[in-house]
Amino acid sequence: MKHGKKVDLIIIGAGPAGLSAALYSRRAGLDFEIVEKLMPGGQIIKTEIVENYPGFKENISGYDLALRLIEHCEQLGIKVRSSFPVNSIEYVPSEENGNKNKSYSFMCRSDRDIIWASSVIMATGAHPDRLNVEGEEKFIGRGISFCATCDGALYKDKVVVVVGGGNAAIEEAIFLTKFAKKVYIIHRRDELRADQILKDRAFKNKKISFLWSSTIEKFMGSDRLEEIFIRDKKEDRTYKFKVDAVFEYVGWKPNSEPVKDLVELNDKGFIITNSQMETSQPGIFAAGDVRDTPLRQVITSVADGAIAAVYADKFLHNITHL
Ligand SMILES: Cc1cc2nc3c(=O)[nH]c(=O)nc-3n(C[C@H](O)[C@H](O)[C@H](O)COP(=O)(O)OP(=O)(O)OC[C@H]3O[C@@H](n4cnc5c(N)ncnc54)[C@H](O)[C@@H]3O)c2cc1C
Repeated sequence: MKHGKKVDLIIIGAGPAGLSAALYSRRAGLDFEIVEKLMPGGQIIKTEIVENYPGFKENISGYDLALRLIEHCEQLGIKVRSSFPVNSIEYVPSEENGNKNKSYSFMCRSDRDIIWASSVIMATGAHPDRLNVEGEEKFIGRGISFCATCDGALYKDKVVVVVGGGNAAIEEAIFLTKFAKKVYIIHRRDELRADQILKDRAFKNKKISFLWSSTIEKFMGSDRLEEIFIRDKKEDRTYKFKVDAVFEYVGWKPNSEPVKDLVELNDKGFIITNSQMETSQPGIFAAGDVRDTPLRQVITSVADGAIAAVYADKFLHNITHL
């Protein structure tokens, strides 16, 4: 018998999708483990206010919403194994894996340990994409940020730039007006993708100005970020712009690395599933932001997590060795 804990199901990631999958798995009486690279909660912890989660008309903070999900799990006796990043998942057929009585075919390896599982729910979410322009690497954490809630208060009475045109960019730009004296939104198109309610709020906010059809070409400064080069595509000109900070919200990259050789991914690396959250590899399911889905929000992530758990349960009951 190979070393490492053995479970019927491993849920990887304890954001909204993973926590919801854990709730449904517990209610189904599954033998499962939920593991998390950092601390439970996921990306939502990083936003000040969640205004669109049904049932919370009082605008709950992202942190409190995550806390409620965690507490709900704890109430059912679910313990998240934190600081457990799954670095790789290997498929080892039952005849080779040394687990005689059950087919624990997925070997999930972290720095510290191995967990063998008969099925997997990938609920690993996504991380912010970068602009990938000159100087960016040097100034991350020294003027370039991906989290207004974490770093916004550092820029009281300063000039900040937000890059992006989706909901996250506009929400965070509005949030930054609490601190900054001026917030410029740089967007590569000439209209925003964000929800109308957010657009209306941003257009009304006197501290916010828009730099349309523009992109950042270069970050500059000595020790900290001081200036950026902006390219205005419509005007066909490039100019220097003094800033204290730039907050980037230009999209997301999926955390699908551990299964990249096991399941089908789309051209951006998001995991392709059917409506039952099944991937191309029987026994591996995906839920939430890591999957190829038209909407990446808390509500869709928790729904995915529930569906993935229900179908993992069906899978586990159908495989002949159980
Ligand atoms: C600034 C901002 C504002 C937002 N505002 C809203 C909003 O107002 N309303 C709304 O509905 N949504 C909002 N969202 C989106 C929402 O946060 C996400 O859609 C949601 O958190 C996705 O949940 P998830 O569980 O799929 O992924 P995540 O929340 O990303 O959680 C994934 C978890 O998996 C862990 N993980 C990753 N890789 C591994 C690994 N290899 N091993 C172990 N663990 C791993 C991560 O550490 C993380 O905790 C916002 C997001 C941001 C960034």
